[in-house]
Amino acid sequence: MLIGPQNLPFRLHAIRERIAHAALAAGRDPAGITMIAVGKTQPADMLRAAAMAGVTDFGENYLQEAEEKMNQLTDLPLRWHFIGRVQANKTRSIAARFDWVHGIDRAEIAQRLSAQRSPHLPPINVCIQVALSEEANKGGLAPGELPGAAARIAALPGLRLRGLMCLPPMLADRAAQLAVFGELAHLLRDINARGFDLDVLSMGMSGDFEAAIAAGATHVRIGTALFGERG
Ligand SMILES: *Cc1c(COP(=O)(O)O)cnc(C)c1O
Repeated sequence: MLIGPQNLPFRLHAIRERIAHAALAAGRDPAGITMIAVGKTQPADMLRAAAMAGVTDFGENYLQEAEEKMNQLTDLPLRWHFIGRVQANKTRSIAARFDWVHGIDRAEIAQRLSAQRSPHLPPINVCIQVALSEEANKGGLAPGELPGAAARIAALPGLRLRGLMCLPPMLADRAAQLAVFGELAHLLRDINARGFDLDVLSMGMSGDFEAAIAAGATHVRIGTALFGERG
């Protein structure tokens, strides 16, 4: 199917239905799940169409591409999530323009983002990216590093530590997906048992968001299922 701004409301509706269905099947309130529309490679017009159809949260992987689109969408009250790998030389711009950073995978990045966040802005919401056992080289901290990292990040004034994020490879069967996402959910409970109060599990993409929701995802990051294949 050809996907353009004109049939985006239909695609969005279908995804919202699937999110609600997955939530209800898990005994969860669909309102507790935020869909982040992942706009990498998509033009600003496509994001505008999504915003007009009610999308409030947008995810971007590449700073320059994101800034170009943000500059065309300044008239809209959108929340921007940086979901790519953060390079140290990009932290100043990311701290200036994003509301969320999902892939915190080293202390240096957290410290830079915090120091460079304007005191006139609310703290950046951040998630620690975790390298789970199923993952091959996708980055992130090892589970054993989490308590120490969480304590250090939670102490940074420019950041608000919200939870954990993972980026597993696309697993074909639902049982394998549930196992991986269940692992992240377990790690969040584990951290909270140590005195933290984290409320975000950023997990699930176009091919596996229903399993992620079953396992407790609060933020799903959806690109191709909404906007179509990336060129
Ligand atoms: C591209 C991307 C997504 C969206 O992937 P789709 O399979 O297109 O839904 C989600 N999260 C991250 C970190 C990504 O880079």
